[in-house]
Amino acid sequence: MKIKNLESFYNLIEALEHLPSIGKKSAEKMAYTLCVDHKSLGQKIAQSIQEASQKIRKCKWCRGLSEEEECQICQDQSRNNGELCIVAHPRDIAIIENIDFFQGKYYVLESIEMMNLDHLVRLISHHGIEEVIFGFSPSLANDALILFVEDRLKPLNLHFSKIAQGVPTGIGLDHIDHLSLSSAFRGRRKI
Ligand SMILES: [Zn+2]
Repeated sequence: MKIKNLESFYNLIEALEHLPSIGKKSAEKMAYTLCVDHKSLGQKIAQSIQEASQKIRKCKWCRGLSEEEECQICQDQSRNNGELCIVAHPRDIAIIENIDFFQGKYYVLESIEMMNLDHLVRLISHHGIEEVIFGFSPSLANDALILFVEDRLKPLNLHFSKIAQGVPTGIGLDHIDHLSLSSAFRGRRKI
């Protein structure tokens, strides 16, 4: 039974339960930590969330995260090597940046429905792209997405490749270790 006059506490638990992979018990534990046991940490986190959600937006070119209209990677002239890596989520950019192998530009394409062909064509011409690398892990949905994008971009005479086999099927790039991911890039296959 809920204790009376603890509305805000229960609201917090309920909100935390909406986080991915957080159940009721974990949410309760977190709520005690954030507003009882470590109040100052709770306030710091609340402030960081507010600041980040106000400042962070999607880059106008790649749809990755940025605090400016154009992200640092899109602005970086030294990364104009003609390569564009298409990824499924903004967090994949950070994952690929961590392996310190890829030196081109990115584009985030979360689903076929999110595809804006005109925008992608503009981006390709803006960055002088010659090769499109699909940085997706293999799955039926991603294979369909690759075929769809390749078909739409055919008139632009680009080279297409996808990161190599060895990337496990149906899991996100965040579950692949650095070494496997960089060798998947090195061993990318023409399609
Ligand atoms: Zn960008």
